[in-house]
Amino acid sequence: MTKLESGLMSLFACVIFSGNLFAAGGTVTSPTSIAPDRYVYYPGTEELSKDEIRVIACGTGLPAARRGQAATCFLIETGNGDKFLFDIGTGSMANIASLMIPYEYLDKVFLSHLHTDHMGDLLGLWAGGWTSGRPNALRVWGPSGQTEEMGTKYAMDHFLKFVNWDKVTREYKITPIPGQIETTEFDYRIPDQVVYQENGVTIRSYPAIHTGDGPVSYKLEYAGMSVLFSGDTVPNKWFIEYGTGVDLAIHEAFQTPEQLVKYYNQAPQLAWRACCEFHTSPEAFGKIMSTIKPRHAVAFHFFNEEGTRYGMYEGIRSTYDGPLSMAVDMMVWNITKESIVERMAVSTEDAWSVPGTAVQPPPQKGVPNPMSKEMDNGRWLPAFRAQDKMLDKHMEKYNLGEQDWRPKMYEQFE
Ligand SMILES: [Zn+2]
Ligand SMILES: [Zn+2]
Repeated sequence: MTKLESGLMSLFACVIFSGNLFAAGGTVTSPTSIAPDRYVYYPGTEELSKDEIRVIACGTGLPAARRGQAATCFLIETGNGDKFLFDIGTGSMANIASLMIPYEYLDKVFLSHLHTDHMGDLLGLWAGGWTSGRPNALRVWGPSGQTEEMGTKYAMDHFLKFVNWDKVTREYKITPIPGQIETTEFDYRIPDQVVYQENGVTIRSYPAIHTGDGPVSYKLEYAGMSVLFSGDTVPNKWFIEYGTGVDLAIHEAFQTPEQLVKYYNQAPQLAWRACCEFHTSPEAFGKIMSTIKPRHAVAFHFFNEEGTRYGMYEGIRSTYDGPLSMAVDMMVWNITKESIVERMAVSTEDAWSVPGTAVQPPPQKGVPNPMSKEMDNGRWLPAFRAQDKMLDKHMEKYNLGEQDWRPKMYEQFE
């Protein structure tokens, strides 16, 4: 299903459920007038009001890669202008980028745990933002582990070792600060712990139970409203205690054991544990939601398609009959005190980076050149000379005379 198709599906759903076919989309007044509301969200076209939260699913799937559905990632935007990424699973960066939000605003990442389907695209955010204007370091929050080696700080320190060649070469060519990661690691065991509090936004963490010590759930509070994000967890007592009455409850609902056997090539012995021993089954998801009664429930962490969604839905509906979204990538929720509206975002396949208000500084002096003279001397002069005319124009247009890198490079050929 393409994004446009899923957008259209959502439009039809609105038409059907509104019970008023004639009101759908308003009235076209003339063949040349502005078309009425399409019940989809076009990123960048709506101002968020002061008392509003917007949540966008940028990844809702599984660890195995799929073009149509990335791994876990939810972007939460608050009316004060802040933006928070909750997990950044493999494949999600293409969805985030399609929103065309300036990278300088995408600098806060909260990791629920350190499975790659929840942090795999940190690579893309880190390097992609650096090459297209982010002036600031990335800030990453995440839980500790039972030992130092199982914690977020260890993971981020070693992330920077993994990308060392990338980091060192970009530090020299671009500028060093955006390549840094400022990690805040907190104790995973403490329920209702404030891990972030700035500009009217409070984020708290709760222990989650999933394959080993460390995973957490998060609750974001803003303007008297709350969004609770489970990360990966089995049904646990903290989610029930602190989730009761939240506005938006986003909780994992894992593929049924039968689906894992049929579609995911899992052995039956693994499938029923994956689903129901270290994740949350659809039935258990429903039981949680009918207990905490959120204003709106969101199920994610399953490949959502014709073959699977009805089985998932049946399981959830056997234990929960309240407001529900079966999440797919690019689903959007606008939350106010008055309403919670679900739509699909319609965004471009061919996103570019857009400028914000900050300017990335030029290369820093004194950063050592990671290229040897031996390599540098292998440049083939005729092709460099061939681009001179074109570069002269660029230099003139942007007044770069003082930053002309060519005379120094050409010296070695003389
Ligand atoms: Zn996990
Ligand atoms: Zn997961």
